[in-house]
Amino acid sequence: MEERAFYRETQATKPQTLNCPFCKTQDTYDLRWVVRTKLDRVPGGADERDRARFAKFLSYMVLLDDKAMCKNMRCRKRFDISGVKTTAFL
Ligand SMILES: [Zn+2]
Repeated sequence: MEERAFYRETQATKPQTLNCPFCKTQDTYDLRWVVRTKLDRVPGGADERDRARFAKFLSYMVLLDDKAMCKNMRCRKRFDISGVKTTAFL
């Protein structure tokens, strides 16, 4: 059984404070995440091994964005998002 049978996937945006490396302006950016929420019960067709894996499975989210565009009108450069954990358990 594949891991994706264990969760329901939704998208969410969360505000994150980032510093543009070009102009050093700090601002808040809405970053997009994929949220994988563990199902309430073991999916149908799970065998014993799947049940054990399901029991250990934790809901988590994965950062979708890897770049942001600077909000400073005089800069507007795209920069890599760094210093943000790209996976987080819920
Ligand atoms: Zn900038």
